[in-house]
Amino acid sequence: MAYLKDYKYFIKTYGCQANEYDSELIAAILEKLGAQPVENEQDADIVVFNTCAVRKNAENKVYGRLGALKKIKNEKKDMIVIVSGCLVQKDYLKISSIDHVDIVLGTHRISALPQILQEIKNSRGKIVDIDFTGRVEPDIPPKRLSKFSAYIPIMFGCDYYCTFCIVPFTRGRMQSRNKEDILKEVRELDNRGYKEITYIGQTVNAYGIDKRYEYDFADLLKETSEIVRSIRWVRFTSPYPSNFTDKQIEVISSTPVIAKHIHLPLQSGNNEILRRMARRYTVEQFKEIVYKFRERNSYIGLSTDIIVGFPGETESQFEDTLKVVEEIRFDQAFMFAYSEREGTKAATYEDRIPYRERLKRLYRLIQLQNSITEEKNREYIGKTVEVLVEGPTDKNPEMWEGRTETNKIVVFKKPDRDISGQFFKFRITSAHLWGLEGEILPD
Ligand code: SF4
Repeated sequence: MAYLKDYKYFIKTYGCQANEYDSELIAAILEKLGAQPVENEQDADIVVFNTCAVRKNAENKVYGRLGALKKIKNEKKDMIVIVSGCLVQKDYLKISSIDHVDIVLGTHRISALPQILQEIKNSRGKIVDIDFTGRVEPDIPPKRLSKFSAYIPIMFGCDYYCTFCIVPFTRGRMQSRNKEDILKEVRELDNRGYKEITYIGQTVNAYGIDKRYEYDFADLLKETSEIVRSIRWVRFTSPYPSNFTDKQIEVISSTPVIAKHIHLPLQSGNNEILRRMARRYTVEQFKEIVYKFRERNSYIGLSTDIIVGFPGETESQFEDTLKVVEEIRFDQAFMFAYSEREGTKAATYEDRIPYRERLKRLYRLIQLQNSITEEKNREYIGKTVEVLVEGPTDKNPEMWEGRTETNKIVVFKKPDRDISGQFFKFRITSAHLWGLEGEILPD
């Protein structure tokens, strides 16, 4: 079965945690077949680009890097080039027409990779394997990149068709995983000493709706909390605001092992824009969820996603978003100027906002949110927080970083031994826009 012995592989992952998980599955499959990982395309015999289609920017990056790969492939004729992920689901005709791409692999077809690779090895040519129906999970655990923190998808796809979003077209209909499979994965990670897991899904708290609520997200969180020993923080992302039930809010708030951080995408602070986005909540309902969480928790980190310059958004509708941001005071926000995604409903709306105006609004929103983020971070100065240490920062190996339960980054001086994957108490000494600085407290 090890027909890829002597092969070296390189995977470049774009986009969200769902893609990171899929890359871990692809790595596990390639290694089971005998291949070994390398750090770059030049040294690889198999190159995988696991792509993202959510934003035009991510798409352009993929096509740019794919173009650059042609030169390497010309010099290494036997190289196998695989393109997988969401962009493939959207652009499979365009990608399959690129000469130096050998395998075009849909998000639902990762389990077919061993057979596809065998065929390619035997006959070369090109294989396009895309499926828009249900996803079949590979019968292999993913190759976890982290030794202490892991993503676990609990559902795939999305049924909501927000008018700006391409995901339902690339990831298909919502499909909750069996709870037995999820909990088996949790137990295995727990037995291996993992400290943190993150349940992922496009509308993660809608888990179970497609199975008619026999067992819902709250039940899953509760049962998870009852079986974990080593795992101290259970996170989840991204919930859909109106899927939060009182039962879910209660379980999240009253269960210590559920990390007190919620990523709650607002998208707009104006009801008319939310309606045109086909979001299924009003601003008032959104705020009510926030206040329910804040009432039941003495501390909770809150982050969000916001789009400005959506078609038809007036100055006063944009200002409604600023008002909501000011009122709620998110710890962090991922903010975007609206960008058209071909194939979505909003891309057909004719009342587009000029691009310069979108950027101006984005700039104003960022200014406001940055001041709130800095202020909220300053509240941590002098406090003691628990941090799960991750390792050296990307920019400076002399500085290390970790995260608090509320998802704040804490940076600190390189310790004298490897303490990654361990919890420590820190005293916060300074605060910045990007996060906090602190020092480890003795046990
Ligand atoms: S809920 Fe909306 S934004 Fe989120 S993945 Fe589904 S369609 Fe996209």
